[in-house]
Amino acid sequence: MTRPVTIFGPDFPFAYDDWLAHPAGLGTLPAERLGTEVAIVGAGMAGLTAAYELMKLGLKPVVFEASRLGGRLRSQAFEGGQGVVAELGGMRFPASSRAFWHYVDLLGLGSQPFPNPLTSAAGCTVVDLAGQTHWARSLDDLPPLFREVADAWATALEDGAGFSGLQQALRERDVPRLKALWDQLVPLWDDRTFYDFVAQSPAFAALSFRHREVFGQVGFGTGGWDSDFPNSMLEILRVVLTGCDEDQHLITGGVQQVPEGLWQHAPAQMAHWPAGTSLASLHGGAPRAGVKALKRATNGHIAVTDTWSVTRDYAAVLVTCQSWLLTTQIDCEESLFSQPLWMALDRTRYMQSSKTFVLVDRPFWQDMRQSGPQSGWPQMGMTLTDRLTRGTYFFDNGPDQPAAICLSYAWMGDALKMLPHSTEKRVELALSALQKIYPDVDIRSHIIGDPISVSWEADPHFLGAFKGALPGHYRYNHRMYGHFMQDALPAAERGIFLAGDDISWTPAWVEGAVQTALNAVWGMVHHLGGACHASNPGPGEAYPAIGPLALPE
Ligand SMILES: Cc1cc2nc3c(=O)[nH]c(=O)nc-3n(C[C@H](O)[C@H](O)[C@H](O)COP(=O)(O)OP(=O)(O)OC[C@H]3O[C@@H](n4cnc5c(N)ncnc54)[C@H](O)[C@@H]3O)c2cc1C
Repeated sequence: MTRPVTIFGPDFPFAYDDWLAHPAGLGTLPAERLGTEVAIVGAGMAGLTAAYELMKLGLKPVVFEASRLGGRLRSQAFEGGQGVVAELGGMRFPASSRAFWHYVDLLGLGSQPFPNPLTSAAGCTVVDLAGQTHWARSLDDLPPLFREVADAWATALEDGAGFSGLQQALRERDVPRLKALWDQLVPLWDDRTFYDFVAQSPAFAALSFRHREVFGQVGFGTGGWDSDFPNSMLEILRVVLTGCDEDQHLITGGVQQVPEGLWQHAPAQMAHWPAGTSLASLHGGAPRAGVKALKRATNGHIAVTDTWSVTRDYAAVLVTCQSWLLTTQIDCEESLFSQPLWMALDRTRYMQSSKTFVLVDRPFWQDMRQSGPQSGWPQMGMTLTDRLTRGTYFFDNGPDQPAAICLSYAWMGDALKMLPHSTEKRVELALSALQKIYPDVDIRSHIIGDPISVSWEADPHFLGAFKGALPGHYRYNHRMYGHFMQDALPAAERGIFLAGDDISWTPAWVEGAVQTALNAVWGMVHHLGGACHASNPGPGEAYPAIGPLALPE
């Protein structure tokens, strides 16, 4: 039987899913440490994963949140929309995100296939490029050029990265082989862009510029990838290798239920705390306010000052907000991190992203066309275009029920085009772009309620949507990712931990936030004198042998 592709490394192939599932649990703390307060900055998925696991181990996590619980897993309900939500951050979760799904399953949440291009969940996909519109249910319905592009991408991956052998090693969790193959690619592709990989590949070089353009607009898996063309090719390789871009699901009712569920959930087995204890009950219902300063306290602990200027010190602190916020939002004492680590935290590069949603009276796009050239096709389909909407997605909640349309999901330059505009203007811009593709569909008459939009880069608590590493950023990522291993650090730099999307090797995918949170759990437990059970060693035990390749500085 073929084993599934999972987000298992490739930089650090540690089996987080097995670690979480093991009956021995994640570790134990010395009795005198039980009930010790530790601070968690940020109540997104990384902060709440860590807080939940640290509570289970008997510590008292104190969670600080400057904005909304859930962070970039934000499901905003439409006013009067009978529970219909707009997924403003993460919205499609690959089956390969095993640690993330561990928590979804724990909370008993439902999921369904995400309506990505050319999937049966979308039903119909409309590709509109350079003024030409194509209707498709599968790749075979599109002109041959699209198949040529897909084949060229597969060949480029095979020729440039030995893709199938690498993915086989990952499926089989053959760590020596996976490391051997991946570590060869790191120095080759850290310095080079995704565009370079595509343009220089013999498979694409043999084709026209038009093929490359179509690849940029329509790409693979979830859609256009030209906004990632300047990124390091290593990052793109990780995405395809670990199956991030396929077999994706949405969380029924909204993904924010995952972090909210962890906040409310009382684990069945816990050290120290009485049955029924949850993060919510430990906090009297709500997290503390945002953090405005982090300093070393005179007793060696870390002093955390919140928005209301209340300062308390903690034996360990985990920071999960985006790393730029350590310079823009938080007055963070410089000596808490080394200068090379500061370089990495500040050089992190974010991608921009905007989304615009409307609530509609019913899933009218599914009404079948009775006449005209598209007779037998629905009114509209999941739409990929080079117009400013880029990606349009439809979310059905049953016949005659209110439904949501994500009119536009865009990144980088296409997101910046929206940045200064009001939500109403964004809706207008999106509708006029869609009108050119669907001149005979009256979307406006179906809109009810207020539209919703987001630009993550406009929010001071985020400053961008997610990390997108540039060429040459591998070393920065390595410094941030490996920081949970603190034994070799000077005492002045210990006790403060980092986790979240920025720290991960797979930014823009929540699995990275979860895995780095689990590294931080290991680091904090180790810092407080705890240990893993011998039968269930953790990431810190595995790191010296199979940690990421160190490139020369
Ligand atoms: C537009 C978009 C689309 C995405 N799509 C997907 C997808 O389809 N699939 C997928 O798997 N992932 C996706 N992601 C990525 C995923 O959402 C993130 O990886 C994940 O949610 C990050 O969690 P985190 O805990 O690391 O960070 P965050 O969620 O950002 O949590 C950090 C928290 O820190 C808080 N904070 C900031 N400053 C302070 C302060 N001073 N004091 C206290 N708290 C503070 C913030 O308010 C925030 O709540 C997407 C993200 C975005 C933005």
